[in-house]
Amino acid sequence: MQQPGSTAIRQRKLSDALGWQVKIEIGERIHGCNGGSAHDRLQQAHDRRTIPLKKHWATFYFTLPRSHRVKKHHENMAETKQSKPPAKKAAPSKAVSTESKLARLGLRTDMDLVLHLPMRYEDETEVIDIRAACLRGGQTSQVEGIVTKNEITYKPRKQMIVHIADDTGELMLRFMNFYGSQTRQLAEGTRVRARGELKHGFFGAEMVHPSYKIVNEGAPLPTSLTPVYPSGEGLSQPVLRRAIADAMGRVDWTDTLPPRLIEKMQLHGFEPAVRLLHNPPQQVDEHALAERSHPAWTRMKFDELLAQQLSLKRAQDARRQKGAAPLAAVGSLTAAFQAALPFRLTGAQARVLEEIRADLRQPYPMQRLLQGDVGSGKTVVAALAATQAIDSGFQAALMAPTEILAEQHFRKIAGWMEPLGVKVAWLTGSLKKKDKMAASALAESGEAQLVIGTHALIQETVQFARLGLVIVDEQHRFGVGQRLTLRNKGADGLVPHQLMMSATPIPRTLAMTYYADLEVSVIDELPPGRTPIVTRVIDQNRRDEVIERVHAAALDGRQVYWVCPLIEESEALQLQTATETHETLAAALPDLQVGLVHGRMKPAEKQEVMDAFTAARVHVLVATTVIEVGVDVPNASLMVIEHAERFGLSQLHQLRGRVGRGSAASVCLLLYQSPLGPVAKQRLATMRETTDGFEIARRDLEIRGPGEFLGARQSGQAMLRFADLETDGWLVDQARDVAHALLHDPAGQPVVEAHLERWLGGREEFLKV
Ligand code: ADP
Ligand code: MG
Repeated sequence: MQQPGSTAIRQRKLSDALGWQVKIEIGERIHGCNGGSAHDRLQQAHDRRTIPLKKHWATFYFTLPRSHRVKKHHENMAETKQSKPPAKKAAPSKAVSTESKLARLGLRTDMDLVLHLPMRYEDETEVIDIRAACLRGGQTSQVEGIVTKNEITYKPRKQMIVHIADDTGELMLRFMNFYGSQTRQLAEGTRVRARGELKHGFFGAEMVHPSYKIVNEGAPLPTSLTPVYPSGEGLSQPVLRRAIADAMGRVDWTDTLPPRLIEKMQLHGFEPAVRLLHNPPQQVDEHALAERSHPAWTRMKFDELLAQQLSLKRAQDARRQKGAAPLAAVGSLTAAFQAALPFRLTGAQARVLEEIRADLRQPYPMQRLLQGDVGSGKTVVAALAATQAIDSGFQAALMAPTEILAEQHFRKIAGWMEPLGVKVAWLTGSLKKKDKMAASALAESGEAQLVIGTHALIQETVQFARLGLVIVDEQHRFGVGQRLTLRNKGADGLVPHQLMMSATPIPRTLAMTYYADLEVSVIDELPPGRTPIVTRVIDQNRRDEVIERVHAAALDGRQVYWVCPLIEESEALQLQTATETHETLAAALPDLQVGLVHGRMKPAEKQEVMDAFTAARVHVLVATTVIEVGVDVPNASLMVIEHAERFGLSQLHQLRGRVGRGSAASVCLLLYQSPLGPVAKQRLATMRETTDGFEIARRDLEIRGPGEFLGARQSGQAMLRFADLETDGWLVDQARDVAHALLHDPAGQPVVEAHLERWLGGREEFLKV
């Protein structure tokens, strides 16, 4: 059995290869052609690990222009195996050149075409007897026979049935949709090679919609597997194949890697690897090809990863060319702050703080991601980075994705710093205009040394006098553009240092490949005295018992979060559920204070409830996912999540991270509605088994695949077409080492240039934030 993860990743690969737009087009085509849910069928197809686009290929053919190129294309169709006729309402064709269709797939240069590698192969190298094919049954076979009869029947619907026979038996080819010309093409006496899945129907053996080819007796069979390429609308396989073959005749095949390196790494040569992948010889290890573990694939993956690593290193060099104000002073404020802290930094906090301090001293901008599991204590590290900026005479800004979180940071950090004489300003979208202007003025005059807020901070109107450091909490919740804007608010044309924080741990290989040019610091230790959270998965119909438990916990002096189900389709419904849950719980627990917080409340109302909860005036807090990030109430030690099956893994982990912050033993109860689907089951099991954010992230990656894991806006363009971060992590390491060596060897320069030119062709579309 394959891991579900690999399905997800393969799925991503397909979509990457095709491009989303194309995928959608295909989906709709299939939908339009066959009815039913195209998505379901694609999904099933992925699950079976084959991608039966070919079955639907012909639907792409009918909107072709009547140009010279297209005539050629139709010839191709006739001479090859295309057998499916147009869908009923063939749209009038628009003249779109093959070039522009190729360009839509991102295939512009000859090298683009040469590096457009097959997603799978078909074996047409063998023809077997009809009798043998019948015995095999159920499988895809290729047979050859003479048409003995060609009839059109109308029951149950119009279809063409072509009978063929060889010396050993006979077979029916059934076509539900067909052109008139096909009837003539498949006239009695014609020799035809048909390939498809053989079934034993009521009237005997048959193939439904086989691919076929009219041949002469003794026509040679292909000697290599037939590649099937990712394609798009109006671009047939034969056309693609020809374009690729033509390009292969024109490109410069010079290996970009020096022979010594190829030998040392035991890599395939570039040209033989590419040629093998386009035209695999009959005796090739098909399994290794399909699995992409064949050395030819390894070479492609290595080259791709190397190009990526080289490009990342270059982005890093470019960043270092930019100026930033060195924030060198770790002075009196920092010292006072540290002395006033009610706890000592953990070893991990002290270590990452040193890393950050060293970066801040540089005259070029820091770009560091601070990763640490929920509750690992990132805030205090961020605050210490800010004191260094302030000690050095600069301003710092801290941006958080939600008002609740920003406000919490504001209260906490202002509470720490204001007694030390630091002016902290507060800026969010919900402020009254007057207050907003006042906060902006404080930033602009430089009077506020620290400005904390939401994305209101990045609005055009907000200027800073001397912005030296930007801190972004839960950075994955911000778009690339938002982070960039804040970066452009530096003083005197200088770029501020940037510290990004995330509690969504990103596995190392992902961090290395998806985040351009980012140093990573990890807090891998929780503050002392935490007891691990115990997680239970409980059927929804035992809700009453759970309520009793909540009651008992509250009487015990503990506080409880009750998280309402996520209702993605409707925010209104989600709100309603939250309100109802609040009412039910309040009624069931008359001796307790039950509070409610949700996303639609005014910030002041939210804050009031949160304050009451923090002060333990509210025992049970009913909440929507607004509490997902950053809320810090150490006395809360029981969390109930309703319909936990609807949440994603990282979301569940974030939510659960709201408890287990104090010294009391914490419990998380995941209520689910049965029956559970396999993915939800897996997620809940993961939650029960581990509280380690990295392990959870790893499994999440396995279940979802990296593209979705990071979100499109996070990963920018999905950069890797061939390498698979899950299985090819070892290659990432090697590529990085080689990139490093090449860049530090003067003789490596031409290699770097040639390699980047081949693989990126000047398109270094990398994330530079
Ligand atoms: P996160 O990394 O999730 O943002 P926080 O910064 O909110 O975590 O810290 C979680 C809690 O741990 C806070 O109450 C914080 O004051 C506390 N904390 C942070 N560092 C330490 C430490 N070294 N020792 C004890 N408690 C700490
Ligand atoms: Mg935090």
